[in-house]
Amino acid sequence: MSDRTRPRILILGATGSVGEQAVDVALQNGMPVLGLSANQNWKRVEQQARRLGVRAVAMTDEGAAAELRTALADTDIRVYGGEAGHLDMIRASGADFAVNAVLGEAGLTPTLAVLESGMDLALANKESLVVAGEIVMREARERGCAITPVDSEHCAIFQALRAGAQGEIKRLILTASGGPFFGRKRTELVNFTADDALKHPTWSMGAKITVDSATLMNKGFEVIEAAHLFGVDANRIDVVVHRESIIHSMVEYIDNSVIAQMSVPDMRLCVQYALTAPVRTAAVIPPLDLVAAGKLTFAAPDTDTFVLLGLAKRMLAVGGAAPAVLNAANEVAVAAFLARKIRLLEIFDAVTRVSEELAPRAKGAHTLSEILDFDREARARASALLGS
Ligand code: NDP
Ligand code: MG
Repeated sequence: MSDRTRPRILILGATGSVGEQAVDVALQNGMPVLGLSANQNWKRVEQQARRLGVRAVAMTDEGAAAELRTALADTDIRVYGGEAGHLDMIRASGADFAVNAVLGEAGLTPTLAVLESGMDLALANKESLVVAGEIVMREARERGCAITPVDSEHCAIFQALRAGAQGEIKRLILTASGGPFFGRKRTELVNFTADDALKHPTWSMGAKITVDSATLMNKGFEVIEAAHLFGVDANRIDVVVHRESIIHSMVEYIDNSVIAQMSVPDMRLCVQYALTAPVRTAAVIPPLDLVAAGKLTFAAPDTDTFVLLGLAKRMLAVGGAAPAVLNAANEVAVAAFLARKIRLLEIFDAVTRVSEELAPRAKGAHTLSEILDFDREARARASALLGS
């Protein structure tokens, strides 16, 4: 890598909430962007590709790839199509670092292609670690690739871990905003709709993760993500509700010193640090005004109401393909909820039922193809259950 603070990068899922912020970080830091990808939104990729002067783009939707090929015919930019084309673009890119901001389980094969190509990975796609955490971490270790977290909680822990050694960690404390339904009991959640769930109090994010934040499924995924990234058992990872989203997470050391990382809630800091760590570069986000914030509050999560947080910890303990089953059932349920086909509590119930039914068998699944078989089975069961 030529310049630590200006790696040559790929941005996967470039048209999404994190992807757009990664484009902004690259522009503000003068980082060369070699390639971009998305699923369908070829018009936005065309604009980004021209602005950034990339060498290659990939659209996983073949129709979108054909449109983009025509639109970019006056350039030398190579356009790849389909899921296989996406992986080909990654492998041929010669980049130093890839930002994976693809949504959902679809981000897993790109994650593996990045690592197999020997690139470092700035990982926003937490589903890669939820679905196949052991495989992904092993691949990174064997190839000597760094995985730096973009998820704000994990970026905070990554920074706080510079204050002590692995053997000195007592526990990780993930903060959670609590989402729009904080303080509500199960009986009060019955009538909430997708529009209510999409009103996140502090972060502006894509629709799927905003719903996951409202159900606390997102925090459950983040416990699994943290366990893999930092090699800490789930029973030493706690969650505390912090409504203001100023402390992004903390590490408690064996001497009971707690190191917290704070900033205004803005994912661009996380993308930037993931790409330049351990070096820091000039700010792309506004400064934190603690006096304006006034006070920081903390509360225990209500795990009786928000059952998916506890379910995630249980599925991590079961191991094998159990977390992949959890993720797959959740993807199906959230899609049905966003399509206004089911109610909020049906997400809780369907994800719990599918996970608990498949867990005893999923426990023994460890290879990628076994895990993906369970992923498919869980999707089919969730769809059947929800009539979606
Ligand atoms: P969005 O829904 O906003 O964007 C998703 C992106 O992925 C789009 O560029 C989309 O392309 C692309 N995409 C979808 N399917 C595929 C596919 N099969 N192959 C390639 N690209 C695909 O999501 P977010 O930005 O909110 O989230 C992205 C990831 O980052 C998720 O894993 C999320 O959990 C994680 N994350 C997000 C945070 C946030 O602030 N948003 C915070 C922390 C983590 P197209 O536009 O063409 O559909
Ligand atoms: Mg997060």
